[in-house]
Amino acid sequence: VRFIAILLALILGKPSLAAEAIYDFAAFDTTIAPDFDEKTIIGETRITVTAAGGAVASFDVTANALRVDAVQGGRITATQNGLWTVTLDAPLRPGRMTTVTVKYSGKPARGLIFGEDVVYTSYFACDWMICAQDRPGDKAAFTLRLDLPPGLTSLGPGTMSREPGTRGLERHVWRETRPYSSFLYGFAAGRMTSAFLPSRRIVLAVLAERGAADSARIQSMFATTGEMLDFFEAKAGVPFPHARYTQLLVKGWEAQEATHFSIIGTQMIDPILANLQEDWVIAHELAHQWWGNLVTCADWSEFWLNEGIVTFMTAAWKEQKHGRAAYDREMDLARKRLATAAEAGFDKPLAWRGDYPSLRIRRAVQYSKGALFLDALRTEIGDGAFWAGLKLYTQRHAGGTVVSADFQRAMEQASQRDLSAMFKTWVTG
Ligand SMILES: [Zn+2]
Repeated sequence: VRFIAILLALILGKPSLAAEAIYDFAAFDTTIAPDFDEKTIIGETRITVTAAGGAVASFDVTANALRVDAVQGGRITATQNGLWTVTLDAPLRPGRMTTVTVKYSGKPARGLIFGEDVVYTSYFACDWMICAQDRPGDKAAFTLRLDLPPGLTSLGPGTMSREPGTRGLERHVWRETRPYSSFLYGFAAGRMTSAFLPSRRIVLAVLAERGAADSARIQSMFATTGEMLDFFEAKAGVPFPHARYTQLLVKGWEAQEATHFSIIGTQMIDPILANLQEDWVIAHELAHQWWGNLVTCADWSEFWLNEGIVTFMTAAWKEQKHGRAAYDREMDLARKRLATAAEAGFDKPLAWRGDYPSLRIRRAVQYSKGALFLDALRTEIGDGAFWAGLKLYTQRHAGGTVVSADFQRAMEQASQRDLSAMFKTWVTG
């Protein structure tokens, strides 16, 4: 996949990427011991990297605030633009694989939140482990060993087993063999209450931070999750790829998708108790299981393929569950948000490669304009072709990474139409 990205970069004339060594992360194996009193961690990440093209002498990971205590297999130097370069002890020959192990400790600057009896992650995985946050197109297997005080509950990627612990700690081993992008790596551990939701096929769990909500409240908040899962599965044409989906409920404002779970803050979901139509956060994070997690943008300039599609699918869920007026309201909201970007002079094409002045304006384009584009496309080619195209795109690229041209190809195939003018107007500019 990385290779395709490089080829595209060559075609598009991006010399900075073309000059990069072509490597591919195959696996990350991380061990972490959180210190709940000090709010620090001690950890170790074993990185398996492959030389995908020519020889590879070094690779880059995201710089973070942790202290590197030891490196085996290479050495780390800080480079500019928020990266650390890992120079291998010996250059890697084409097609070969090697591992580098980094031991570290300290207090992550972002991405790890210590609550009263709990610790959980949010988005910035490469702040608490060694990985590459900004290579969404480079998916890798992920194993996470958590060394925890006895009796805690944990949540991590894939499925859990136990290994003998040391120093009086219990070791929970979470292993995900399906490759995922680093920004989706995450975990939680602590004293949490668990609840189970009605479901047709897979296990639907909620893990809640203590004091976040009682079980009756949890059941009413998350009641429609199973129905949503069925809706997204049908539209994707791809079954949910795990035996279990967990929603981690924490206090505050979180709304974050991860490998096969989501982190949801009470502030984001509380409005649902007053109005059942306020279910966007459950729908948005669940929809990411297909669009974002399984089918992932090759780089951040294609991020609308994660967020625009999911914003649209949230509206589509609302249409199915609450009626057309609920869908229209989502589109009106998207139009208002895009208007703020236009006022700031940033009504950019969806796959624009430049920098946005703020997160709000970037989201107005990649989330809101993305959803409006799908709505326009749906109107243009009709419901039958539109949903067939979305299904084709999702089935074809499940487990892989995508660029806008992949989406266009599926939509053109399903509609039997040349959509290049429309894609030029909305997507490439
Ligand atoms: Zn999202």
